[in-house]
Amino acid sequence: MPPIFYAVPVFMAFLLLELLASRWMGRPVYRLHDAVTSLNIGFISEAVRSLVKMVTVIFYALFVERVGTFQFDMSQPWVWVLAFFMYDFLYYWAHRAGHEVRLLWAAHVVHHSSEDFNLSTALRQSSTNQLFYWIFYVPMAVVGIPVQVFVTVALLSAIYQFFVHTQLVPKLGWVDRIFVTPSNHRCHHGRNDYCIDVNYGFTLIIWDRMFGTYAEERDDEPVVYGLQTPLRSWNPVWANLKNYAQIWHGVCNTPGWKNKLMEVFATPAWTPDGVPKTVLPESSRTERFETPAPKWQKLYALMAYLVGFVLFMHWLSVTNGLTVPMRASYGLLLAINAFSLSRMFAGRRWSVEIEALRALLMFGALASGQWFSPVSSQAQIVAVVAGLISLALLAKTAGEQRPAVAKFQSLEGA
Ligand SMILES: [Zn+2]
Ligand SMILES: [Zn+2]
Repeated sequence: MPPIFYAVPVFMAFLLLELLASRWMGRPVYRLHDAVTSLNIGFISEAVRSLVKMVTVIFYALFVERVGTFQFDMSQPWVWVLAFFMYDFLYYWAHRAGHEVRLLWAAHVVHHSSEDFNLSTALRQSSTNQLFYWIFYVPMAVVGIPVQVFVTVALLSAIYQFFVHTQLVPKLGWVDRIFVTPSNHRCHHGRNDYCIDVNYGFTLIIWDRMFGTYAEERDDEPVVYGLQTPLRSWNPVWANLKNYAQIWHGVCNTPGWKNKLMEVFATPAWTPDGVPKTVLPESSRTERFETPAPKWQKLYALMAYLVGFVLFMHWLSVTNGLTVPMRASYGLLLAINAFSLSRMFAGRRWSVEIEALRALLMFGALASGQWFSPVSSQAQIVAVVAGLISLALLAKTAGEQRPAVAKFQSLEGA
């Protein structure tokens, strides 16, 4: 079983805990559409990662084998300490490049596209960053840090990163100036001018202080989360592709090779004519994208998300035993589920009917036992019940569904 199979339920338990704690503290930090979008983006990212067979690890192992300079004894604690510092230092540069080079930003932007900040934001990960980011860790392989040490340090750092995505932990004084903490990472996710291109660290924030990219969260100007050029969509596929589409459009429409290269490799703020591109005017930065969610739609969204979660866990548990086409089909099915749900959130035409058809086909297949792995008779019964509840909720949703008009929630005074 992949390690993520055990990590996901723990992440979800903490997410639920944060949701309850925030309600109890009278500081609601979750919105249904945003959280479901974040989690579905996380599912799709994992599905893609499995398909590309963890490119980072494969290339890393190859480099250690071919060009590794030293042979390290994994039982020596200093090897782990060295690996931790190297990984954290290289992550700083990978993350910094992810914000300062357009092509890399097109991948990383996904993580910043939420206008909320909570533990679900941590799981809003890009599906495409694994294509590029392994390059930044080649120096560790060249030194010869064993692949097991590299993978473990990366995993532990990623678990640490999950917990810094919260608004419920206040500033921590001197700790905020040594480690990446909720406070300085909140600042990293802000679209206030003072939050742009700062606090790239993964576990240690000392790299930011060394290289001049450190900023403290301000009490006089609370962080407003999200992008200065907002996504304004619940669509997890578009969240992953939007900036690539913009780069492609720029390359096709900008004359001159130099400009075309700049479209791909310049900083995101670059424009061919030097005139800053339109970003959200300062007066609108405190507004969040939201679409109306009728009561039944909310209930259905929760139900569909729960079913999606169970399927995701099942996919994780069987994926290593599936052929590549089967694995790809199952991953695609999870992506289609998420995409269809996002269309309904946005109140798209026929979205409820399409969602009903999707539910009918999916639960029908499960109930008949035609799935990617054998379906037990109990699971078949559960599928029939879940299918009937889903269709009933969709019928109710259809009755109250209106074409969604995006409304912008003001955070002023929130
Ligand atoms: Zn970032
Ligand atoms: Zn983050």
